[in-house]
Amino acid sequence: MSKQNEKPAVADGLRRGSSSGAGRAAVYKAGSTGSSTSSRSRAKAGKAGLGLTASDPRQGNRPLRRENPNSNTPPPTDHGDLGPIWYSFDLAHKRIQPGGWTHQVTQRELPPSTDLTGVNMRLTAGSFRELHWHTADEWAYMLYGNARVTVLNPDGTIFIDDVSEGDIWYFPAGFPHSIQGLGPDGCEFLLVFDQGMFSEDKTFLISEWVAHTPPSVLSKNFGLDESALAKLPTGELYIFPADLPNSLELDRAAVGGQKVQSSIQYTFKMQSMPPTKKTAGGEARVVDSRNFPVSRNIAAGLVTVKPGGIRELHWHPNASEWQFYIAGKGRMTVFDSVGSARTMDFHANDVGYVPAVAGHYVENTGDTDLVFLEMFKASEFLDFSLNNWIRRLPPEMVASHLNLDEDDIKKIPAEKQSLIGKK
Ligand code: MN
Ligand code: MN
Repeated sequence: MSKQNEKPAVADGLRRGSSSGAGRAAVYKAGSTGSSTSSRSRAKAGKAGLGLTASDPRQGNRPLRRENPNSNTPPPTDHGDLGPIWYSFDLAHKRIQPGGWTHQVTQRELPPSTDLTGVNMRLTAGSFRELHWHTADEWAYMLYGNARVTVLNPDGTIFIDDVSEGDIWYFPAGFPHSIQGLGPDGCEFLLVFDQGMFSEDKTFLISEWVAHTPPSVLSKNFGLDESALAKLPTGELYIFPADLPNSLELDRAAVGGQKVQSSIQYTFKMQSMPPTKKTAGGEARVVDSRNFPVSRNIAAGLVTVKPGGIRELHWHPNASEWQFYIAGKGRMTVFDSVGSARTMDFHANDVGYVPAVAGHYVENTGDTDLVFLEMFKASEFLDFSLNNWIRRLPPEMVASHLNLDEDDIKKIPAEKQSLIGKK
């Protein structure tokens, strides 16, 4: 196990000051979340005298530790340092303006996540996220309420639709679009962009374009007298309050109806689609370019894990994974080469990260459903199940590697389950 000759699983605070013999011993302070760790490691930890070495007489951020016991006292199977795999929107600066707010978790907050960036935004009823476009593709999941979205195609046709909780939209890079909160209480949504360094503060805003173009040029372009342009905005609007719009039908008719209507569908009902996978452990809904053709660069899974259940040990061959936790409580261990593993706890509004091809599971450690999104910068959602791999190999081959009885090997699920129920 110890290729880097590292001591297994010592609480971080202890490792720093542990030049003594006690610090070098394998230590594990058994907690409720560590109950599934190997009995061998546990026995080793017990012998080392865990009380003394895991003790922590000085400072600690107690609320943070209670939220993340697996980080402060890692399971003894954790090893090495594979970098951060956790961040929370609740730590990100919140930009609040009349009409709503926004905050983001990007590569700046979670440096290994170079593929995807997330933005969580709220718009009150009637309020707009200003007309804009940007360099990244935008995928969005409605977390709450109702919104109206518009997006223009290069051929001049326009897509206008209303979305509700559980619906998604996809706007390709460069395509100009808008989002408006509807009644009764506006909306909240998650945006995911296919660039790690993307910033929601660096988009192309219609207000700024007109503010930074000579009035005589605008007059010529719009065919309007300069006096008619006197009230154009002189700076960004970004998020701002407005009246509620007309009905969808009236808005569609107001711009020219059927003949200017987009033939491409930019919204999709993800939460209400039939599950792609349903087992005793939960449900998964997969949306990618195969069932939502416009989402060419971002693939997504909406996963529900029942209490006690687990998103099985698996990995993705084609991309890193960016997760957003919607509800419940779970823990994930990420396994990376060479022999490193990190376990963290996750709650609603947290972001998880899994390096490309790294193995992982997500276990529901609470008593309510754990709901999260698995996101990939990829056109297709692809994963490998460890169980499925094991069962597609001759039992002798598996027995040689894992020292399992052939009878026991046959008890391992042969097909990919995605979600495995409580044992
Ligand atoms: Mn946008
Ligand atoms: Mn995964």
